[in-house]
Amino acid sequence: MAQNIFKKPQRRVDRVFLHCSASDNASHDNVATIRRWHKARGFSDVGYHFFIHKNGKISKGRPIDKIPAAQHGNNTGTIAICLHGLKKGKFTQAQFKAIQSLSQEINRAYFSNISFHGHKEVSAKACPVFDYKKVLKLDKYGSLGLENSVVNDIELSDEAVELDYGDQGEEVKKLQKLLRIKADGDYGKKTLKAVKSFKRQHDLYPSGVITKKVWELLAKPILENVRVNDPAKLPNLKMGSRGKSVELLQELLFIKVDGIFGANTGKKVMEFKVKNGYYPSDIVEQHIWKLLLKNKRIDNYE
Ligand SMILES: [Zn+2]
Repeated sequence: MAQNIFKKPQRRVDRVFLHCSASDNASHDNVATIRRWHKARGFSDVGYHFFIHKNGKISKGRPIDKIPAAQHGNNTGTIAICLHGLKKGKFTQAQFKAIQSLSQEINRAYFSNISFHGHKEVSAKACPVFDYKKVLKLDKYGSLGLENSVVNDIELSDEAVELDYGDQGEEVKKLQKLLRIKADGDYGKKTLKAVKSFKRQHDLYPSGVITKKVWELLAKPILENVRVNDPAKLPNLKMGSRGKSVELLQELLFIKVDGIFGANTGKKVMEFKVKNGYYPSDIVEQHIWKLLLKNKRIDNYE
């Protein structure tokens, strides 16, 4: 069984996609053939990073640091693995052992912060044909489930920085604001917990990695508010105000949403006004609404 064939790439990765070659022909059981097919389709190189032969041997394809050409529209942030085969019954036990071993190796390298998927999850194809969920014992998030306890027990430290846990700075603050947790700019355990819980709520694999898709999901409620709300129709708010418009205000200020304009909301309003050069009262007038809504464009979250 192949060991240590996987080397973690520099680029950020949080998903692995499995494919089949769509051929049971022995003369196609090699990377050179797939490369030829892919080049004929206009790719610069074979699209997959790994190719698993019928005898269980794992060959390398495209360099791991390169983005694959394998799942149209879903290549960024992924690793692509192809098993040689077409008919469901013709994949071999040796191949299954090899994909299990390779997947575990990848899973370990990412402290389980990575999920495994079939090509068909993102396209109308049957690829990879075989029952990969069963072979890899995947849970509903595509998690390997074999060594999950490892990630819970591990004190994530230096190694995890590139997974986002451990990151610091303005981007982390933004994330924390969107999660409505204390924005100290430190991606620590509390942030990780909030991220995992958010991702679970959205049926995503609960890793700590924040992808563009997660940013979009985080920003979505705010963006929807921006679309439907006309500042001219929003009422002036002050301490003691209640209701939907206060909820919107709190949403826009990235604070706890309870619909009650209390001391904390007042404080945040004042901070916002000072930051934007206004007299620090805790009243929200039309020009403040305008400013709050104007700031929340999608490009602020990417
Ligand atoms: Zn495929």
